[in-house]
Amino acid sequence: MLDGLLNIFFPDKCMFCHGPTGHGERGACDSCRTLYMDDLRPRMAGTKDIRALDSVMYALEYKDGVREAVRGYKFHYKPGYSVQFGRILADVLTKSGAEFDLITCAPVSLRRKMTRGFDHTGLLLDETAKAIGSKLHGSKQFDKNILARRHRPAQSGLKHEQRMSNLKGAIWLKNGKDVAQMSVLVIDDVVTTGSTLEECARVLKSAGAAYVMGLVLASTPE
Ligand SMILES: [Zn+2]
Repeated sequence: MLDGLLNIFFPDKCMFCHGPTGHGERGACDSCRTLYMDDLRPRMAGTKDIRALDSVMYALEYKDGVREAVRGYKFHYKPGYSVQFGRILADVLTKSGAEFDLITCAPVSLRRKMTRGFDHTGLLLDETAKAIGSKLHGSKQFDKNILARRHRPAQSGLKHEQRMSNLKGAIWLKNGKDVAQMSVLVIDDVVTTGSTLEECARVLKSAGAAYVMGLVLASTPE
């Protein structure tokens, strides 16, 4: 029982290459750590179809081991991967030097949470907060209960315009939340066309947010 739980939360195979992690280390093997985690820098994604969103920062390219890890996390129930993902996001955010009044995540519908077995963006936010907390002396306001999302058919395979119309009215600000004049960071796993983050930004800006940036683990190559 305990072993099973440990394997879910701290898988003993490398999340990127599925090889052994060695040294009793859980999460990622040494060579994948070097490849994907040791020398991170904030990178800016292209913003050609983006209007409400001020910018999108990402850590890694969505390919090879990164793609494996993100797919494992979302589609094969590996919530434990969030620990390393949180470290990656925290590292990039700290190096960027950007400061925000509020840090939240792209909302996931209840139905998606049920089928996936967990709230994959909420967990990213929690782990990012944990990884960053001590460095920033708790001055940042992390809150995953800002935006909500209604279930709509999967976005994959749709073009940006189709995604945007698919998302219309599907994301909203939760009751009693105030984002007026705030600079807001929205965390998500992957940015493809940017439509989810764009809709989040549109909702936040309509509610008076001054600045909205997206932060994602990985960006699909242009
Ligand atoms: Zn590896």
